[in-house]
Amino acid sequence: MENKEIEFKKITIDHLTCQSCNSKQHRVIGKLTYLYFFIESIPFFPVKKTINIICNDCDSAFDVDSLSSSAYKALSKKLFKVYALVPMYTGIIMVLLALFYWQYNNYQANSLSQEYIESPKINDFYYINQTAINDKIPPNKKYVLGKVVSLTPNTVSLVFSRFLFENKSSLASDIRGAKVIDANYFNKKRHVFPRDKLINFYQNETVFSVLRPKNSKLFGTIVLTTNLSVNKEVKGYRENRIGLSFMSGADSKANLEDAERFFLESANKGYVQGQLNLARLYLDTNKISQALEWSKIAALKGYDLAIEFYIQHCSASEDCDVAAFNAELIEVGF
Ligand SMILES: [Zn+2]
Repeated sequence: MENKEIEFKKITIDHLTCQSCNSKQHRVIGKLTYLYFFIESIPFFPVKKTINIICNDCDSAFDVDSLSSSAYKALSKKLFKVYALVPMYTGIIMVLLALFYWQYNNYQANSLSQEYIESPKINDFYYINQTAINDKIPPNKKYVLGKVVSLTPNTVSLVFSRFLFENKSSLASDIRGAKVIDANYFNKKRHVFPRDKLINFYQNETVFSVLRPKNSKLFGTIVLTTNLSVNKEVKGYRENRIGLSFMSGADSKANLEDAERFFLESANKGYVQGQLNLARLYLDTNKISQALEWSKIAALKGYDLAIEFYIQHCSASEDCDVAAFNAELIEVGF
């Protein structure tokens, strides 16, 4: 903070008598001292008003202290008009506007986060503070970046960044630096959350911000790669594709049998989509226990659609116990 004095206004008066030459004509100069930051021409706010009265004929200064206080006030009122003082607060007004703008932006970001957490979409990014879920997290590894990778009507699956951060700002800088498009940026492990649990996380600030890329970009940086090509070398992928192609022409019994044969092959190779497709096929042909058996195998690998399927159809079988299943899921880490 520094001070600067400016000549604020000048008027002429004729009701005082010069102590040196008896002239009646005086000029009255209002001076204002204001505080400024960095830029002298942007006053922050006025701190002191001074009045100088000078004789027009002999230039000697009239003793302002000899004025009555009401006379002084009258002059001050003429010189320092309220509307003319407003620009003297330019700095403070600018700061207030900036604060308001910043608050408004925050408010907007918050209401968007709220909206996004309530209706999640694949590729939403989550800023997560892990301390509320896990009290063993050291403070320098508090923050993690999450990304939505799949959705079911009741659950949301996230992957977490491999890196854990001490500062919130690192989350945004990894996004800005386009690090998140690296195939290995996120861990492969999927964390499946019921949707209401996520809303809960937002309320307790475990998830404290949600960002939704527009045209694959956040902060003007590409954060998504469009060709999410499936690795065709994955075991069971091919058999599942063939099974699906039989399903698409499944009006004949022979086609269904072929589909089942290929899904089973795919399932036996450990391909979760194949396992779930097999479960669906079994469900359609009323083989409930086999449907549950295969969907459970896929579910316990964290495949959220299979989890959903198993929970949805559990009630159709007397032997099926949702609570026990949930306990098993937790045990294997989902
Ligand atoms: Zn004079």
